[in-house]
Amino acid sequence: EARPMSNSANGSSATRRKPPPVRRRETPPSSDLDSLGHHSTEDEAGDEDEGDNDDLVKILNKLPKGVDLQSAKQILNDIVVRGDEVHWEDIAGLEPAKKALKEAVVYPFLRPDLFSGLREPARGMLLFGPPGTGKTMLARSVATESKSTFFSVSSSSLTSKWHGESEKLVRALFGLAKVLAPSIIFVDEIDSLLSARSSGSENEASRRSKTEFLIQWSDLQRAAAGREQSARDKKEGDASRVLVLAATNMPWDIDEAARRRFVRRQYIPLPEQHVREQQLRTLLSHQHHELNDADIEVLVRVTDGFSGSDITALAKDAAMGPLRNLGEALLHTPMDQIRPIKFQDFESSLYSIRPSVSPDGLRKYEDWAREFGERG
Ligand code: ADP
Repeated sequence: EARPMSNSANGSSATRRKPPPVRRRETPPSSDLDSLGHHSTEDEAGDEDEGDNDDLVKILNKLPKGVDLQSAKQILNDIVVRGDEVHWEDIAGLEPAKKALKEAVVYPFLRPDLFSGLREPARGMLLFGPPGTGKTMLARSVATESKSTFFSVSSSSLTSKWHGESEKLVRALFGLAKVLAPSIIFVDEIDSLLSARSSGSENEASRRSKTEFLIQWSDLQRAAAGREQSARDKKEGDASRVLVLAATNMPWDIDEAARRRFVRRQYIPLPEQHVREQQLRTLLSHQHHELNDADIEVLVRVTDGFSGSDITALAKDAAMGPLRNLGEALLHTPMDQIRPIKFQDFESSLYSIRPSVSPDGLRKYEDWAREFGERG
């Protein structure tokens, strides 16, 4: 696939990194952990493996008793995301949400001493709004800016068809989050994990992950609230610097008890006019194009109702315009003979790229935001 637009913040979730490297080498402690063998992520170079394995052993050694090691390894491999960082400036608009997240997460993580007692931060924050508005980007930039380990979780990554395995995965997740604190546990599509749907239709495994998730989350809130961690708890990580950040396009599906636990519920709306302009200008900034200010003004107007990801899709499609009519000639045309992107390319793309949220759909978010959310 061609990647015509330079967009460092395209939120690719493909890049995973191992747990934060503790680069010192030591002889691995001889314990039953040795039998875990080498953690083998295929794309890692052999030379690094030993060091990584040392790190892994150290991390696993700190886990509370009762956390299943195999589950912990699975979480580390599949769910800890690093690399391809997202920063605040990559995200167009959403200033109120950024401000709320700085105050609720980033500053408390960086200066825990200032945020205790009345200033104790919330343990959970819900980002809700139409799809493609930057919720995942926000969560990732929070992790970057607060220098946290980022656990990216979905309902399916915490649900195993094997009896008892779902609980183990959830316990391993929270155990690791404490050991690797500061940590952000980001649950995308939290509605499917904490859904209000009747228990009859819920399958057993997902009901179990939901129950265990709520238990672990409560424990975390309790431990953090009073900062009454025992010495044992401290050794097992820092519960006061673990936060559950969740995103949903369907906030009305979240079960009421779960909803109430998110003390902060931040609405992530569709981009306003000036935000669409900012995003379009950023997307075009490194491209060979012929659009003038008046053209951009028109685009900003006609993209009313588009989400951030709709705008990205539009710009990517338009950027393909100059290549589309070349046919096979594409393969040997020199770069400097490719024509610039024109306004007409956007015009044609507007036939196929339409907003993903209907006005009716949008109203539903606005209503929910009015009833349960913070605006922004
Ligand atoms: P969500 O989690 O709300 O569904 P994402 O954060 O995954 O949406 O955004 C999907 C893609 O849309 C991003 O990778 C990015 O290319 C684009 N995008 C969405 N919102 C923004 C924004 N506010 N600024 C810049 N790009 C955005």
